[in-house]
Amino acid sequence: MEDQVLYRKWRPKSLTSILGQKEVVQILSNSIITDRLSHSFVFSGPSGTGKTSTARVFAKSINCETAIEKNLSIDDCICNSCNEINNYSSQSIIELDAASSIRQVEDLTEVMLDKINFLPGANNYKVYILDEVHMLSRHSFNALLKTLEEPPKHLIIILVTTDPEKIPQTIMSRCQILEFKSIGDQEIVDKLIKIANSENKLLSSENAQIIAAHSEGSLRNAENLLERCIIRLKQENLDKESIETVLGIVNREIPTSIIENILNTNLDTAFKLLNDQFEKHSNFESITNSFRELCRNLLHYKYKLNSDSEIEKLGQKISVDQIKSISNVVNDMKPSSYTNPKLSLEIMILNIFDKLNTQNSTLVSSENKIDELDTKKNRENQSIIQKSEDSKSSVQKPTPTQEENNDDNILLKNFIEHFSDLDWSWKVKTINNYNINENTLNLLFTHQSQIDYINQEISNPINLKLFTEAIKKTWNKDLQFNFTLNLDINFLANQIQTDNNENTKINNLQKTSSTEIFYKEASKYGSFNKLKEIKNES
Ligand SMILES: [Zn+2]
Repeated sequence: MEDQVLYRKWRPKSLTSILGQKEVVQILSNSIITDRLSHSFVFSGPSGTGKTSTARVFAKSINCETAIEKNLSIDDCICNSCNEINNYSSQSIIELDAASSIRQVEDLTEVMLDKINFLPGANNYKVYILDEVHMLSRHSFNALLKTLEEPPKHLIIILVTTDPEKIPQTIMSRCQILEFKSIGDQEIVDKLIKIANSENKLLSSENAQIIAAHSEGSLRNAENLLERCIIRLKQENLDKESIETVLGIVNREIPTSIIENILNTNLDTAFKLLNDQFEKHSNFESITNSFRELCRNLLHYKYKLNSDSEIEKLGQKISVDQIKSISNVVNDMKPSSYTNPKLSLEIMILNIFDKLNTQNSTLVSSENKIDELDTKKNRENQSIIQKSEDSKSSVQKPTPTQEENNDDNILLKNFIEHFSDLDWSWKVKTINNYNINENTLNLLFTHQSQIDYINQEISNPINLKLFTEAIKKTWNKDLQFNFTLNLDINFLANQIQTDNNENTKINNLQKTSSTEIFYKEASKYGSFNKLKEIKNES
């Protein structure tokens, strides 16, 4: 109810206070002043541009007893007609919404002709405003056409539409057509500040701009958004943070934090952040848009197009390919195909999780390899034990490559040292050994995932340059490099033993399928129980 009071309060009360539609107002004003009124109009234009408001004040103006002498500035007029219209008790303006009351419109001709004969003497005109007129059936348009062909003298019909293409030519050709344009941001900003001040609220031009930016050129949207802020915020100052919370505008830290958690395989926290954002009234669009914006900022960061300290931390951790993957997942989301936006967003998070962690480590395949090797390892171990019983020497040298070649190790250490200041230095540390074959440096790894991690980093040209320079400085010559998975069974067997704890952890994570994780997570937030409820809300 409170909403309505504020909304009505700021409705324009005369043609002179219509915002951003100079041409339309000029045409209508002239027709009143020169008494050359058309009987049928089409008001066409985007929603929220003042079509219905203009229709109402036009109807008010043509029935006002003092309009001409006041040069149409009748905001404060208290003549009988204006009083009735201001109190919503006037019989001279009839509003029908074609979208919601087609049945009513079906009987339009009859209704109009019936009532027109009982016009109260004080009013000169009866004005029918048909909202969303493009929704009418062919039958209704035919009925309407009859009225338009022979309009009663005191009848004015205003057809309001956002989609004039759908109105038959026979109708259009009988109406005066007025086109409403989107309202400029600055005009919206000015109006918002004016409204806020009248409601004893402080609204800076900058913060009014935030509201205007989310109103899609619609003054009505902007006013509705401001209303929500005024009603929900008790404080005098409408500050940025409060406005964002009330309007469900996603703070840019949120998608950043969600992706960071996904990269750290904290799916739990990622879901929680998403859930919190939903509780703050963010909708599907605002959340997916916040991810798009993040991808764009990250790419800009990666290619040094700008320096944005807020995403620097994430920017260092993530590769260009990973950013592209996130962007692809987000762009594949289609709001219209989902009835439950929250569920779709959870699926989106899950898909991002899958993509990033597949790129992070092809653990599924390496897991299989490890499984295979595990069985081989057991066999190998048995033979090792047997051998060791024969000769103890093989046990004393479990990692011959590391201990035999001290020089090699120093060079490898030097190489790794080049990356010590970087966030991803730990990835370089996964290089287990190397060999040089002619002009090729073979860097050896024990897990495919380690190779993937480094590949991710050097997919960034800047990192690739660092990498090749470090090779040159370490080995004193231009070497091509190669990443090789070292599948030497003995070597791996030992490696698996030492890495056992870590691998178990990762394997467990990967073995739990994405679907399982999803259902586990989703059920925590009751999204399935609330399915019906959410559907009703949206
Ligand atoms: Zn009046």
